[in-house]
Amino acid sequence: MGKPILEVKNLRVSFKMYAGEVQAVRGVSFTVDKGEVLAIVGESGCGKSVTAQTIMRLIPTPPSYIKEGSSILFDGKHEIAKMTESQMERVRGKDMGMIFQDPMTSLNPTMTVGAQISEGIRKHNQKVSKAEAFKRSAELLTLVGMSNAEERIQQYPHELSGGMRQRVMIALSLACNPKLLIADEPTTALDVTIQAQIIDLLRDIQEKTETSIILITHDLGVVAEMAHKVIVMYAGKVVERGTLDDIFYNPRHPYTWGLLRSVPRLDSDKNNELASIPGTPPDLYAPPVGCAFAARCPYAMKVCKEIDPEHFEVSADHSAACWLNHPDAPEVEMPVGIGRGSHG
Ligand code: SF4
Repeated sequence: MGKPILEVKNLRVSFKMYAGEVQAVRGVSFTVDKGEVLAIVGESGCGKSVTAQTIMRLIPTPPSYIKEGSSILFDGKHEIAKMTESQMERVRGKDMGMIFQDPMTSLNPTMTVGAQISEGIRKHNQKVSKAEAFKRSAELLTLVGMSNAEERIQQYPHELSGGMRQRVMIALSLACNPKLLIADEPTTALDVTIQAQIIDLLRDIQEKTETSIILITHDLGVVAEMAHKVIVMYAGKVVERGTLDDIFYNPRHPYTWGLLRSVPRLDSDKNNELASIPGTPPDLYAPPVGCAFAARCPYAMKVCKEIDPEHFEVSADHSAACWLNHPDAPEVEMPVGIGRGSHG
């Protein structure tokens, strides 16, 4: 691990809609070091994908806008929050790559796989000849585990299976040796066996190339396989941050407890149903006063509904925005089945 490749500070993103302003991301801060995998987890609508897409500046303005005081510093020199679209085009695809959930919507159906990857290579490096770009495309397809790469580059996306298309998407995102890769639910659309292969592949590539990765997912099983650090988001905010071990073995926020209880485990009693978190997230047109999780939290106290908790530090790398971590808070037991000794 080294210097940060990305420093996000107080990121706030809203959408101006007819009915008002949706405060999708409400003051998110985190860093990603070189060679590190950071997972951002949370239910859908928690702001994790908006955060990822804002880092790539993929959400059109309007309706979205990045609020004053937000900072997204990439590689110590690019202030992404303030870049123009043409400046951003030079960074996107070259220094940063993105892997989407559904490759079918991001791959061009009218171009062969080889033509698409070659185009990605030549877009940012015009000195590369067409022949060289095709050769590199085939190498990339081999790197992502596709056999007969020379033949594959002649195929169109619809001629490939879902798992193969996701491999092409990964090859495409690696075309220019990006420093940062953002993978937004990279395995959600795939069946379980293929999911495991794609996770193995991402982990393998990350280890070989030392690319930093931001992994956006609702699936803590995927997180356990490859993340170094985790941030848990709820209602547009980071509610807990820590190393993988902190989050899995010593979680300190009831929302994280809820997420962990919904992870299927091989050793769990088959009669025990998976827990889901009752209730729904708050309306981000008018976020509640106090802790946004209070309406769903079985531990909610009076203070929770009145004052939004700041992050309480558990250790240098670990903090949680929950009043239960206040020195004067009542002691509560973590729910059975999570924490140390339960996920080894
Ligand atoms: Fe629950 Fe209160 Fe902690 Fe919010 S601050 S998660 S309501 S205990």
